[in-house]
Amino acid sequence: MGFAKYIINIDELFEKFNIEVNANMEDFKDYLEGKLDAIIDLLKQNLSKKKGIQSIKSMSKSIPAIVNDFILEYTFSENVMLTGITYSQSAWKAEDNLSVLINGSVLFDHVYTKELGEYKHFHAVYYFPANTTITIIHHNHSGNSKLMWVDIEFVKLFEENNVDPPIEEPSEPEPDDEDENICKREFEKASTVQEAIDFARNCLGIVPRNYEISLEWANHINEGTHQLFREYPSVRDIVQNSEYELVFVLYEKAPENNGYVGGYFQPPTSQNNYKMIIGVNTHYTVQKSTKMWEQSFLSGFNASGHKFATIYHEVGHYCHFNNVSIDRWIELTQYDPDGYGVEKSPQLTPTLESIISQQISTYATYWYPIEFVAEYFAVYTLREKRNGTQGYDHPTLRNKYNVNNGFRPNELT
Ligand SMILES: [Zn+2]
Repeated sequence: MGFAKYIINIDELFEKFNIEVNANMEDFKDYLEGKLDAIIDLLKQNLSKKKGIQSIKSMSKSIPAIVNDFILEYTFSENVMLTGITYSQSAWKAEDNLSVLINGSVLFDHVYTKELGEYKHFHAVYYFPANTTITIIHHNHSGNSKLMWVDIEFVKLFEENNVDPPIEEPSEPEPDDEDENICKREFEKASTVQEAIDFARNCLGIVPRNYEISLEWANHINEGTHQLFREYPSVRDIVQNSEYELVFVLYEKAPENNGYVGGYFQPPTSQNNYKMIIGVNTHYTVQKSTKMWEQSFLSGFNASGHKFATIYHEVGHYCHFNNVSIDRWIELTQYDPDGYGVEKSPQLTPTLESIISQQISTYATYWYPIEFVAEYFAVYTLREKRNGTQGYDHPTLRNKYNVNNGFRPNELT
């Protein structure tokens, strides 16, 4: 389809036809009459094509923190006129880009994503028959996790004149394709380190470091995180959509007095460089560590003796961090010169300290409110009890967890 043309000066039109058909007025009339049927046909076709319904196909996808291509696809069920594409993502990195293919042919080739969402209006009109497939490829060169959204905008066409547009029931947006993915399956221990790394990256969306040191620990971390994500998809979504990486590091021989697991935030050089690092000291076997953890629970020091309690606790820190702004996070940790709260916060009254240590754990009174929030999160998500009671239901503690912005998974009330 070309641009519309406007005749400003009729003499110029005659001039043009004189040249082309060497016409006087009679020739011109004959010429038009000869073309009349074709002109009417053309008008009919174009007028009928203008009947349609403006439509949008909206899709989204969680992109884990891996370098790969991620594909969204849609097949039109009717004839369509494609009018535009809107594209956005929850986090932006300069090196990521986007391709759009129609039935496998490239329409947009590696177009850089923009920091703000972008709408591309089509200046050429593309008509596609039913069963045409449009493919959106996000080239995640940055390896950062994010959620991406695509709206494909088009007009559903009706070839017949006077056809009333059908009334369609509104449909739910297409769910992410995650329902089909391996995260939904029962956990199976990897038999090689590479398998464990692939599972961590591709399924869990976490960043594994030094997994080659211990397959046993790699499997333990994967299994604990998998269980947490399966039970609490809202926690998984935080991890997979956050612009901050969740990194699990295995240490070969960290000093024994550091315990077997610990988490901390890697200080940023810029805001986006924040990372949640969870270190695991492989000096201990999984079995020995679990035993130590159980004893620590029985002594009242830790909130749970569950074999995955430490993983839940550290992810609790991560969710807490992601649940607040950087300013709020600094406010929450303001009592600490190294950004982690003093061991005994002035906010912790003797009464509150006593309730927390009886209902949750002694450790939850340290670096208040940071460790309280992580310990609370662990017992809350594991539904654990101490002395037969659920400490996380204690009204004072519920309130303290909320006012300090602890994350409550959607799946729990
Ligand atoms: Zn902690």
